[in-house]
Amino acid sequence: MSTAIVVGSGPNGLSAAAKLARAGLHVTVIEAAPTIGGGARSAEKILPNLIHDECAAFHPLAVASPIYKELELHRYGLEWCSPPIQCAHPFDDGSAAELHQSVHETAKRLGKSGARWNKVFSSSAENFDDLLSDISKPILRIPKHPLLLAQFGARALLPASVLATLLKSEAARGLWMGVAAHALYPLTTPFSSSVGLSLVVAAHAEGWPVAKGGSQSIANALVSVIKAHGGVIETGHAVKSVTELPPVDVLMLDVSPSIAANILGDRLPSKISAAYKRYRHGAGAFKVDFAVEGGVPWTATAAHQAGTVHLGGSAAEVMAGEAMIHAGRMPERPFVLVGQQYVADPSRASGDVKPVWSYAHVPHGFEGDATEAIIKQIERFAPGFRDRIVGMATRSTTQMSVHNANYVGGDIIGGQSSPRQLLFRPRLTTSPYSTGVAGTYLCSASTPPGAGAHGLCGANAAELAISELRSR
Ligand SMILES: Cc1cc2nc3c(=O)[nH]c(=O)nc-3n(C[C@H](O)[C@H](O)[C@H](O)COP(=O)(O)OP(=O)(O)OC[C@H]3O[C@@H](n4cnc5c(N)ncnc54)[C@H](O)[C@@H]3O)c2cc1C
Repeated sequence: MSTAIVVGSGPNGLSAAAKLARAGLHVTVIEAAPTIGGGARSAEKILPNLIHDECAAFHPLAVASPIYKELELHRYGLEWCSPPIQCAHPFDDGSAAELHQSVHETAKRLGKSGARWNKVFSSSAENFDDLLSDISKPILRIPKHPLLLAQFGARALLPASVLATLLKSEAARGLWMGVAAHALYPLTTPFSSSVGLSLVVAAHAEGWPVAKGGSQSIANALVSVIKAHGGVIETGHAVKSVTELPPVDVLMLDVSPSIAANILGDRLPSKISAAYKRYRHGAGAFKVDFAVEGGVPWTATAAHQAGTVHLGGSAAEVMAGEAMIHAGRMPERPFVLVGQQYVADPSRASGDVKPVWSYAHVPHGFEGDATEAIIKQIERFAPGFRDRIVGMATRSTTQMSVHNANYVGGDIIGGQSSPRQLLFRPRLTTSPYSTGVAGTYLCSASTPPGAGAHGLCGANAAELAISELRSR
């Protein structure tokens, strides 16, 4: 029987492990942390029965993920729950722009700029499954749906600031820029529309659902598949060198390129080692989870029904904040993402006390405390919030990389969203999962298609490993 070791149990490591186990390999997953799941973990952090997502919370790409469908994760307990409104973007005048799953509802609420919103996003959303089958793979290949990809690509290559000019109102521009800011990169650079475009189109196709019971349910379902096929999970073991592992047919690394370079040491071809060490990590995240009596007292009605709330005010303000953090300076009013998972999944709350998830975009390796900046940003759109806080738990950029070594300098998206790294990650090659060491693959979010708890990097790497194993 062929054997495999997967280092790291994030959604990509677990997806790779599940695919390898189903292909008949004996798989062992080795995880540094005491619990499995990497960025798909949830825990009672503040009060009993109050479930907080440690990292990933909203799952527009996971719900559509072909690997999760192939693995039939619903049979292993994974259930998706959608909020009534996918995302709200409040403004200082008390109004909020609303992102609905229905593109028409979104357009209707945007008034005079609604028709433009529809025009920019609807056709990709209508063909999302076909589009995903192309954008979930490395870029240097023949696409299955070239026209669809070309249409998407023509918008994706634009700076987010240029795409914003196509949207007529401040409300539409703010809503767009809040989603585009997920790239954690200056929004005036080419290709800075690509991340936001994928997320808006996915929202209109699938929504931004949460996993019932917490994102941990995604990891748990994947572990159930692995165990059902004879796989073994080992936690609390940080792999430092390949020399501490037994020889196997397939070694799959769900780690950042620099960790992979350390683990593989001088087995790695020197050019590839140099490319892994050159790989750039981007701006960071400072996270605060709150326990809030009665939930957040938003001024804008729509924000009460939204799973995600983006706090950054106008498009210009969001852009300025993202440019500052990229330049290594902390804005007074950083861009803040608030998650109200309990709106979609009431089982996460404890009576009237709600678990509120938030993080601010901060400079790479930011050493300060952003807690007060986050609270002030929420208070700006929800006066009285501070008085409702009954407990909180913070995680700085340094603690972020202790929690998960892949989050280098607090970078939660597996690498800087520079044009080069968006197109070619982790290095310029047609085979991004290959490490140059026979039977050894990189499968983390630092490979295509990048960040998210969708497991697609792991699935692609496992597919390559299986085909190479069969042709050996
Ligand atoms: C605050 C936050 C919010 C986020 N929000 C979202 C969201 O809403 N939606 C979304 O889709 N994504 C979100 N993400 C991103 C998402 O979590 C990641 O893109 C995703 O988890 C990447 O999966 P992965 O399998 O590549 O790696 P990870 O999930 O990072 O897992 C890697 C695992 O490898 C382990 N590891 C590392 N080094 C070693 C070693 N040497 N030996 C053994 N084990 C090792 C780590 O401990 C970790 O468990 C968020 C992330 C954070 C932190």
